[in-house]
Formats: sequence, structure tokens, C-alpha cells
Amino acid sequence: MTKPSIIDKSEDLTNKMKLIKKEISLYEKEISLLQIKKRFFPPSKHLYKFIEVTNWLLTIISIIYWLRFVPSSYNTTGNYLRLLITSSPFLFLAIIFRDCYNRCINNENYLSLLQIKLLELNDLLEKVKKDQVELLFSKESTDEDFKECPVCLELVRSKAKICRYCGHKF
Ligand SMILES: [Zn+2]
Repeated sequence: MTKPSIIDKSEDLTNKMKLIKKEISLYEKEISLLQIKKRFFPPSKHLYKFIEVTNWLLTIISIIYWLRFVPSSYNTTGNYLRLLITSSPFLFLAIIFRDCYNRCINNENYLSLLQIKLLELNDLLEKVKKDQVELLFSKESTDEDFKECPVCLELVRSKAKICRYCGHKF
């Protein structure tokens, strides 16, 4: 046989649908996991940004304070140590909360990417389903002689003596 039969084509489409469905369920799992995570750790990106900016400001204020109000009579190493002690916690917090903010943004982007992919897969599945319906009800399929197996209800060629699916003898 050079040309694949309707049954083969239909089987190909069924396998394709199975693969797409598997992929869809994977995406759905991943998305629901992310959404659960989001529910327990609410998207406080605005809070993170606020804390980050506040800490950048506090860092700058502490440096200005150090520049203006530090008595010049102290020894210089002591002065720098004081600068480090007053400003580094704020700097540290600013960097940490910038990371938190970025992670929030990344998660949101990842989630919307997954949702777009899921929509695409559902569209693809619908298309394949439609293809299969068209294939089975096309003129081509009525021309080709096949029958339904009475035992397993699969389509087999009408000249077949044995069902290729369940082994039923005609
Ligand atoms: Zn059968």
C-alpha cells in the first residue's frame, strides 16, 4: 500500500490527540501548582518594591548623614566603620527585596507563558479533533470499504477476516 488508509490516518490523529492531551495535563498541573503557590505567598511585588526603594533611600540618607555630621576629629578608620555599620543593613535589605521583586515578576511572566501555551495546545487539540471528524466523514472514507467490528467497535477493512484490534473472526 502506497497511500495510508483512512484507518491509519485516523489512528495517527488519535495518537496525536493523546500526546496533546498528555501535554495539556502537564501544563495544567504546573499552572495549578503555581497558582497554589501564589495563593499562599500572595503577589506582594508592590510591597517588595516599596521596601526596596525605602532601603535605597535609607542607604543614601545614612551616607549623607555620615558625610555631614560625622565629627572630623575622629580617626578616619573609625568613621568609615561607622558608615559601614549604619548604611550596610539598608543596602543589604534593598538588594534582597530587589531580588524578591524580580522573582515575583519572573513567576508572573512564567505563569502567563504557561497559560498562553495551554491555550495554544487546546486550540491544536480542537483542530486535530476537527481533522479527524472531517477525515471519518469525508467522501474519501465512504469510498473506502471498511466495517465496524461488532465486538470492539473499531473500524477495520471490510475484506478483513480477522479484526486487527481484538482478533474477532468475521
Ligand atoms: Zn474487533
